[in-house]
Amino acid sequence: MIDLTITEALEKLKSGEISSTELTKAYLNRIEQYGKELNCYITVTPERALADAAASDARYAAGNALPLDGIPIGMKDLFATRGIKTTAASRMLENFIPEYESTISQKFIDTGTVLLGKTNLDEFAMGTFSKTSYFGAPVNPWQLEKRLTAGGSSGGTTSAVAAGLAIGGTGTDTGGSIRFPSAITGLVGMKPTYGLCSRWGCIAFASSLDTPGPIARTVDDAALLLSAMAGHDKKDSTSADSGFSAHTPLQPILGDGKNLRVGIIKEFADVAISADMKRLFNARISDLKSIGAEIIEISIPNILDALAAYYIIAPAEASSNLARYDGMRYGLRVEGKDIYDTYKKTRAAGFGDEVKRRMIIGTAVLSSESYEVYFLQAARVRRMISESFEQAFQKCDVILCPSSAGTAMPLDSDLTPLEYYALDLFTVAMNLAGVPACSVPCGLADNGLPLGIQVVGKRFDDLKVLQLAKHIEQFAGIDNRPTKVMGK
Ligand code: GLN
Repeated sequence: MIDLTITEALEKLKSGEISSTELTKAYLNRIEQYGKELNCYITVTPERALADAAASDARYAAGNALPLDGIPIGMKDLFATRGIKTTAASRMLENFIPEYESTISQKFIDTGTVLLGKTNLDEFAMGTFSKTSYFGAPVNPWQLEKRLTAGGSSGGTTSAVAAGLAIGGTGTDTGGSIRFPSAITGLVGMKPTYGLCSRWGCIAFASSLDTPGPIARTVDDAALLLSAMAGHDKKDSTSADSGFSAHTPLQPILGDGKNLRVGIIKEFADVAISADMKRLFNARISDLKSIGAEIIEISIPNILDALAAYYIIAPAEASSNLARYDGMRYGLRVEGKDIYDTYKKTRAAGFGDEVKRRMIIGTAVLSSESYEVYFLQAARVRRMISESFEQAFQKCDVILCPSSAGTAMPLDSDLTPLEYYALDLFTVAMNLAGVPACSVPCGLADNGLPLGIQVVGKRFDDLKVLQLAKHIEQFAGIDNRPTKVMGK
């Protein structure tokens, strides 16, 4: 049962071949078996899951099933869940139990899903290997003995979904945190258009960049999850009216004489990537050509400056967003001799090194002497990148580029902060521009590990992005069934 996709599981639930309770128990057993080793969940919610499943079975029996009824998912522990611990993988929120439900997790309640638990992540979603988690890093189930990273910051969800400890799940993507971890675990990860999914109740990192999105094993599954997540929310003023709803199976966008202009980013041609990534990227481009894609070279002149701009803007927003953790209203409190001392002691004890580094950088670039030269300059670069994407989309319908330079690295790789930041080279520009981007498996490298390609679209062309991703998925044809990935 663990190998079923969401699409397949829904069919079997509808036909009565399986019940949600059976499906949920299969996942809970697997979490029991491998949850500790993979460290993909911070909190498992078995009672809630079984209650959700029973309610779902009752709806099926009564003939009023909801769109995703009975589907067991993992929720990134950045989304506030009423009555269930929500930690952001930080000591600061280690024991925080929200009194409210995030819009995204509420939508998953409203569409009938089963909550298995809250998945691990980088502390406040700051990181690339999920190693900044206060609860330790999740592990990539591919070649488990090698203890590779499942990526970050949504690495708990990718570890869980790839290993069959959830059928699908949620992530958030501020600079690549859905796409990078999905790519190196053989999954489909979609960063939708900024504003398509509400951020309300999602613990903030960098508000102008944070984008909730789905992580799943197939493109159709990702489309189903995104249909549940998308929609305007009056509680988030940046959320968009333009709803998204996909009918699965998604319709082919190429073939039978259907043409599409596919852009390749000129500036990325000189970036060093692994021989495997190059080979698989070119192979998928040839495949797309063979069914009617017209390949065009496009230019995003400042795209190599995206990293520098991102690592000014994201920390600046983070330093402001994280000012609220002062030990007064919620979360950790370490008593000091006066209020300032309490602030200091609380924040010193509650935040990890990477979060502190970001707040210091953010505070520095927003200071009066640095504002013009750093923050404003980064904002200008952001605007130029955004405009370049708009111009490029006059020449092409979608853009393709690698999701990462290479395959998953060992968790004990000793990288400097700047080396970690550099891993985001292929992903951050799409957040700066707010455009949708989906990472889809493009094949296996010679070492047997998966790699991904990003399909990038115009704002609100999320459906088109997924439709093209589906072609790539079919050509790549990798086997990401959890029992195959884990070998058990
Ligand atoms: N790796 C990037 C960072 O550390 C992106 C994180 C994210 O998208 N949440 O900021």
